[in-house]
Amino acid sequence: MDAADRARVEAWLRYGDDLGLGPYYRSRSAQERPAELESSVQAEPLPRTMAAAAALRASFSSPDLSPKTSVGRSQLAAAPQKPAQAAASVLPIVTGPSLFEAADRIENDTLERIRADIGDCTRCKLHKGRTNIVFGVGSMKAELVFVGEGPGHDEDLKGEPFVGRAGKLLTQMIESMGLRRQDVYICNVVKCRPPENRLPEKDEITTCSLFLFRQIDVIRPKVICCLGSCASQTLLQTTQGISRFRGEWFDFRGSKLIATYHPAYLLRNPNAKGEVWKDLQKVMSVLGLQPKRK
Ligand code: SF4
Repeated sequence: MDAADRARVEAWLRYGDDLGLGPYYRSRSAQERPAELESSVQAEPLPRTMAAAAALRASFSSPDLSPKTSVGRSQLAAAPQKPAQAAASVLPIVTGPSLFEAADRIENDTLERIRADIGDCTRCKLHKGRTNIVFGVGSMKAELVFVGEGPGHDEDLKGEPFVGRAGKLLTQMIESMGLRRQDVYICNVVKCRPPENRLPEKDEITTCSLFLFRQIDVIRPKVICCLGSCASQTLLQTTQGISRFRGEWFDFRGSKLIATYHPAYLLRNPNAKGEVWKDLQKVMSVLGLQPKRK
């Protein structure tokens, strides 16, 4: 190993020690390594140091650090628990957001501040065709947030999400759950209308979704309901089709997240309404809601 590599590894290890991870990696490496190998490793300390550094580096790209992590966390919850038990005996129990989630959050952020930060945004090419920025609407104390894809024609003109035909259907869905539209919060992944109602492109989603994450962080809802593929793939950082995970629960930065079909899809495929109603009933169960009496 040259001097630069050695310095880098030593820096990682010092950082790991600062975070209190040193005992964990020492403990885990001892548990995973067969006894007959242990003596040779002890006689040759450098490879062991490199393995610990690699493990530490891997922890920084683990699913715990981003929305992607949220999928991973749920999946990990269902996975065999052996490694987690090994860690639990050494690491303290973390009750707050992870170091990285905490770093992502903006202290004392508000919806007004986010809207002010967006300003007359030209950060992505969607600004060229918009009439209005469609920020979001509803209660900032909402326990339930609906996230759609992006504004359509009617939303662009009015500056409010979900006001066209699909929006009317969403309002019916909300009222069927025993809520009013003003009880929930409704927003989109991108705040400007894509031309011809095309899907938002990756660079547009990457740029604009930072505002969505801040909105969710400010509201901290109990439940996030993603409407359609774009919203669910963005928040869960997955490329899987929505039918693979629709109706399942995930964690998203402390909120429970569920994905269901977009109301616009239901307008084209009314037979899917039963599936969506099942998903909404799961949400109602978590929020303690009773369906609206007819
Ligand atoms: Fe800005 Fe979002 Fe509109 Fe792009 S879509 S111009 S990032 S507000």
